[in-house]
Amino acid sequence: MSCCDQPGLQPVEQALDTLLSSAQAITETEIIPVAQALGRVLSEDQLSTVDVPPADNSAMDGFVFNSVAPTENQHITLPISQRIPAGVAPQPLQPGSAARIFTGAEVPIGADTVVMQENCEWTDDKVTVLVAPKTGDNIRPQGQDIQSGSIIISRGHRIKPQDMGLLASVGIAEVPVYRKLKVAILSTGDELIEPGTELQPGQIYNSNRYTLAGQMNALGFDYLDLGIVPDDLEATEQALRKAANEADCIVTSGGVSVGEEDHVKACVEKLGGIDLWKLAIKPGKPLAFGNVLGTPFLGLPGNPAAVFVTCAIVARPYLLKTQGANDILPTPIQVTANFDRPKPAKRQEYLRAKLTLDENGEACAELAGNQSSGVLSTASVGNGFAIHPLGDTIKKGDPTQFLLFSDLLF
Ligand code: AMP
Ligand code: MG
Repeated sequence: MSCCDQPGLQPVEQALDTLLSSAQAITETEIIPVAQALGRVLSEDQLSTVDVPPADNSAMDGFVFNSVAPTENQHITLPISQRIPAGVAPQPLQPGSAARIFTGAEVPIGADTVVMQENCEWTDDKVTVLVAPKTGDNIRPQGQDIQSGSIIISRGHRIKPQDMGLLASVGIAEVPVYRKLKVAILSTGDELIEPGTELQPGQIYNSNRYTLAGQMNALGFDYLDLGIVPDDLEATEQALRKAANEADCIVTSGGVSVGEEDHVKACVEKLGGIDLWKLAIKPGKPLAFGNVLGTPFLGLPGNPAAVFVTCAIVARPYLLKTQGANDILPTPIQVTANFDRPKPAKRQEYLRAKLTLDENGEACAELAGNQSSGVLSTASVGNGFAIHPLGDTIKKGDPTQFLLFSDLLF
């Protein structure tokens, strides 16, 4: 459905395109130990200068020989000419002999086949091969995993645990990464107080601050927490100025509607520029994007579930691109809906849902409960979003796209 079908509401994909095309990746880099690189974004391609494994090696404990020696299905007895544990450089194999070999040990020159010890009988100096292997069996060839000169991980990749192992496997101890993005977060609202104090009439606890702090942490950013900003023009301006001076990006919650108590919009307009969007997203319609004194600004709605959704779906890819990352948009998986849902009025819905297995063992999505924008508990119960596009009703058994939280909070 085009945006013309929902006057005033901008489709999520279109808003994301606009946002992403304006994102400027930071350029400053630093060199850090691989052990500390989890979640960081590589600023240069990483090449291997070695083969992995560096030489042919044995995949088994057993005996290594040249396959010319035994003929298939025939027991053959060979003298044992050397013992090769892992970590030892072997001598070339004496022709017509076998060598005792262990898992991970280098295959000697002149040998091409390993027979596992379960298929042998042996004494100190002789081995009888009971089941002849095929030439090349049980040998992991040099360069099987990585060849010298190849790119093992590209610039813009966000380092995962297995990448840390991969870098180490080619002898890389330190990597160049973009410095951490610094995101200022602030929560607007006179009604907010911090957890740990007693609620007075009219007050609610500030939850967005913690949702946002958690999301910034999960994405590997540094964040500058500017706490609660009252619904007051001057205080808002002060906080935004500080955020713009000290951070790379600003993310706020609340105060972006057009009510009398919503000062963020006016303030951002004064200090920079703003586009206030009505996004075709539910929850999370009002979303502002602009700059404060040149620093990118994302104004998320105030409702707690809307903050969770818009941060994960809209702010996350923008911030990741600013961080220099390549792989910024999550890939939905197609699962079966285990719920009925009427056609959404004007906005694509991100339903807090739970991916489970149905009675046939197939992946299906169940709604996590109340989908109101003020209800955060269902985001905690769920493990992802079932996406409900415009123009469709969903009936039990229909295919539905699902985004796992684990793909959005990394
Ligand atoms: P607003 O966009 O400022 O009008 O806020 C919309 C709704 O979200 C209101 O009910 C607010 O009380 C609530 N809200 C705003 N900020 C927060 C916050 N930091 N934590 C919890 N609820 C909030
Ligand atoms: Mg407010």
